[in-house]
Amino acid sequence: MADKLKLVAEVKLVVPTEVHTLPLATMVRCNQAADWLSRKIWKLQSFDRFAVQHAFYYELRERFGLSAQHACLTIGKVAASYKRERTLHRFRSWGSIAFDARTYTLRLLDDGATVSLTLLDGRTTFALAMDDRTRTMLAGKRGEADLCYRRGKWFLQVSVTVLEAHEYVPAGWLGVDVGIANLAVDSDGAVYGETVRAVRVRNRRLRSVLQHRWTKSAKRHLKKLSGREHRFSAHTNHCISKAVVKKAQGTGRGIALEDLSGIRGRVTASRGLRREIGSWAFYDLDQKTLYKAKLAGTPVRFVDPRYTSQQCPACGLVDRANRPSQAVFRCTGCGETGHADHVSARNISVRAAVNQRIVAPIRARNRPRKGQTGIPTRGSCKLLSEGCGAFFRKPQPQAGCLLK
Ligand SMILES: [Zn+2]
Repeated sequence: MADKLKLVAEVKLVVPTEVHTLPLATMVRCNQAADWLSRKIWKLQSFDRFAVQHAFYYELRERFGLSAQHACLTIGKVAASYKRERTLHRFRSWGSIAFDARTYTLRLLDDGATVSLTLLDGRTTFALAMDDRTRTMLAGKRGEADLCYRRGKWFLQVSVTVLEAHEYVPAGWLGVDVGIANLAVDSDGAVYGETVRAVRVRNRRLRSVLQHRWTKSAKRHLKKLSGREHRFSAHTNHCISKAVVKKAQGTGRGIALEDLSGIRGRVTASRGLRREIGSWAFYDLDQKTLYKAKLAGTPVRFVDPRYTSQQCPACGLVDRANRPSQAVFRCTGCGETGHADHVSARNISVRAAVNQRIVAPIRARNRPRKGQTGIPTRGSCKLLSEGCGAFFRKPQPQAGCLLK
């Protein structure tokens, strides 16, 4: 039985101008109700959904003229928001509102698709605009949906459950290094998202200028800029992850990525560099790659990221001097040279393969205590590229290596 994956499919509603106020009125009313309810339960400090429903259901319906289902969904939404964080929650008038199986019906027809929504004045049907991929997603099991209003357009975000594809046995690993200079480089040497950095740097400069000015118009520009950068980044990450998964799948390989969770606290980098490493975009790229891989049946492995940029993929030497500059790798031991990010990607690919096949020989003093992982951090073996996956600082072959 394949695992299930929860995804969100976004479709655009075709809303004629003359009925534009229908969904808007419902949205504003539901959010006003949510905001009112939020203040009430914050005052009472009572956050249990059923207690809230018991106390406020009738008043909510009467005060805001909501249908039974809208009232329940509003209560559910407010109660759920307090599960995450206990501060007073405000609800903007134009925030998204929830629909469930009783308040929305989505129909996929031969020529297009429609959705009927229960609004304040009853059911209204809208046409939907979507591409084939979204259509395939929506054909699966559908859950709740959120109606969103963005920049004059209406969208329905439908949560769908799809089955993961059966994972194939990989013939090798495509290592992907997510970097600073280039957004991603794989172990075949392909570079993804080259233009991203220029855009990010340009935006940051612009932002800094605007922040110093701090006028009303500057604030407006900043907001616009942040939205634009976010969308650009999300789009780029979609393109990169799609290309990576397609390549891995096409060549029957798995995908190897660095396990960057917790890297923020560990990495030694300049302030500017840290900002980029810690940025949302890196995490987002991993997440997008992961779910696309699951849909394609491509295995994904996360490897220890330590020294991937300083280690020589040919002889295994780890040395900071192997990196004479940000872009160049030159091994001080064997002379192997290459593009720095490409070298990192090769190391990542190797580590994924190594961690799977061979258990690293562990010297007595590096032997992990109970509860630790079995990967020694340094000092055991030099033959990483073919051998045991252990890290070390000096190129000394160790007695315990499987390949010696
Ligand atoms: Zn070397």
